[in-house]
Amino acid sequence: MRIGIDAGHGKDGDPGGVGPSGLKEADVTQSLAVELGNLILALGHDVFLCDRSLYASERAVQASKAGCDVLISLHTNSGSASAQGIEAWFAHGNEEGKRLAGAILGVLISETGAVSRGIKDDADWHPASDPNWTGGMGVLRYFPGPAVLLELLFISNPQEEELLRSGEYLKKCAHAIALGLLDFINSWKGRSRADPGKGEREELPGFKDPGSGGSSGSPEDLLSGEDSGGGSSPSRLDPFPDLSPTLWEGKARRIVLALYDLGIITGYEDGTFRPDQPITRMEAVSLVYRALNYLGKVPAL
Ligand SMILES: [Zn+2]
Repeated sequence: MRIGIDAGHGKDGDPGGVGPSGLKEADVTQSLAVELGNLILALGHDVFLCDRSLYASERAVQASKAGCDVLISLHTNSGSASAQGIEAWFAHGNEEGKRLAGAILGVLISETGAVSRGIKDDADWHPASDPNWTGGMGVLRYFPGPAVLLELLFISNPQEEELLRSGEYLKKCAHAIALGLLDFINSWKGRSRADPGKGEREELPGFKDPGSGGSSGSPEDLLSGEDSGGGSSPSRLDPFPDLSPTLWEGKARRIVLALYDLGIITGYEDGTFRPDQPITRMEAVSLVYRALNYLGKVPAL
């Protein structure tokens, strides 16, 4: 996956907002973009930094042409000396962009403790020069995929300006943005440009999706019959040999095999069920999801 990063402002020396003690938005966004870019690279994704000699909407077009799947535009807010908090903008009608904005804002707020101003639809954005403007934000509208514009704190607020001056604080923000981005990517169905299919089907240890097939010793192999003529292990003929037929007076095995037949549960890769193995919260959630999927209440993964 290739992630475009736009360090807001900087064209022809445009400083963006300037804080009461002189901190420039363009310098903050540049530092943050470098931090964020390095983190995303470390997480195994590709990064494209937009050319700051371009206008905002041109940067979006450039990022798209460069093959970016996602665009993140970094800004700091400006207003009164007491205004505070973080907000995330998405392009009107771009549902994945909205989800991206929510994912990143959520982590930013929990990691920094900043005031949340919420996610915002860019149809409600009006530049100071045109209060009647309804065309949204160019940097969001000219990018075809999920895009978000982050307004990180108010540089006009002396306390928040001090935070924005701190390298440690910007590191924390970059970390939060990267985590939110990962959350988004991991649950993004529409991604296909850079690495189609990769990671779309998440497998949890011990609860392999029946549809994923493939690896040796999985329950699918147990039913294929390939080894029926003298398999080396009894487990290859009998699902869950470690599940005692007398447990719960025999009900345990009947329950498990019934759910196994429906594809709601599966065993471990080695064919065992391990009835006394503790279940993790993620495995529990996966199990509930699979059951609801069977009932048609939630879409398949
Ligand atoms: Zn800005």
